[in-house]
Amino acid sequence: MFTGLLIEKNEAGEYGVSLRELDDTMLPEGDVTVRVEWSTLNYKDALAVTGKNPSIVRSFPMVPGVDFAGVVETSSSPEFSPGDKVILNGWGVGEKHWGGLAEKARVSADWLTPLPEGISPKDAMSLGTAGYTAALCVNALEDHGVTPESGPIVVTGAAGGVGSVALILLSRAGYKVAAVTGRPEEEEYLRTLGASEILPRSQFSEKGKPLEKARWAGAVDVAGGQILANICASMAYGGVVTACGLAAGMSFPATVAPFILRGVTLAGIDSVMCPAPVRKRAWDRLARDVNPDRLALMTKEITLRDVPEVSRNILEGTVRGRVVVSLKS
Ligand code: NDP
Repeated sequence: MFTGLLIEKNEAGEYGVSLRELDDTMLPEGDVTVRVEWSTLNYKDALAVTGKNPSIVRSFPMVPGVDFAGVVETSSSPEFSPGDKVILNGWGVGEKHWGGLAEKARVSADWLTPLPEGISPKDAMSLGTAGYTAALCVNALEDHGVTPESGPIVVTGAAGGVGSVALILLSRAGYKVAAVTGRPEEEEYLRTLGASEILPRSQFSEKGKPLEKARWAGAVDVAGGQILANICASMAYGGVVTACGLAAGMSFPATVAPFILRGVTLAGIDSVMCPAPVRKRAWDRLARDVNPDRLALMTKEITLRDVPEVSRNILEGTVRGRVVVSLKS
């Protein structure tokens, strides 16, 4: 038996989440069983746990949690042996296959990444999909030719998970970074992470012109909606925008002006189905560039029992940085 969070839907279609004792026989198919030690709460997990976006969980009952770190318990795959330390991010885990918010998980070996050298399982989950997505964004900026000499980078949702880690990675790599936030009271925190300028979210949320003053060489956008449109409009010539989120909405009310008049590139970032070599490169960057003390500063530790309440807080936008979930009994 093991403990896990279970999302269920009853016959009336009512959504419920509870802490349950689960049996090993209930675990889904997979060639590797992992004793989960740490998981985390991402924005997507918060949507799943609260039922705020019912399309995230695609089969019931479901153990949520798109990330976990742990130790292989049993494996019928030659790739992994009992005792190996592994992490998992995405691949539909916590959405259509039982996820990381339980003491055990059973998954396909292809979905697992060996824990990178130089990072603890707890720190890997303090970063989680949010951190790994931030690294995908920074790598994509550089793959498109952006360097610290190109000019400043703007990061939206800066006090959130993706935004906070993006600030750390960009400042570490020598970029000048502007942080866009709806929480001006977090200025000191954002500066500690590496922001050199703090900009209010309100400056970006109203409908703007097709082209604004050219300001940024690169952008990491977690917001979408009007904010993404305005960011595109304020990119410098040849600028690169990495778009990974929808915290402000799914829409994209932009014009083609930045793309056809300034040669701006809009690079989409997906962490879920991202190929293994691209993941590994992102994780190697995180292991190399994120100082554990800085990570601790932006991470709150909770247990499974706290997950429903903290999920609501994430959607209210009151959680700063990252949340790591302990599953160590
Ligand atoms: P968090 O909840 O940690 O942070 C989101 C941040 O967005 C908030 O802290 C807030 O930052 C800002 N924000 C909140 N509401 C709004 C709003 N209405 N308008 C503008 N900004 C807002 O989430 P994550 O950082 O984990 O994820 C951010 C986004 O990225 C989410 O949409 C998530 O789904 C997406 N994502 C996508 C991935 C992918 O594979 N493409 C992977 C991971 C995340 P502040 O207080 O500083 O303004």
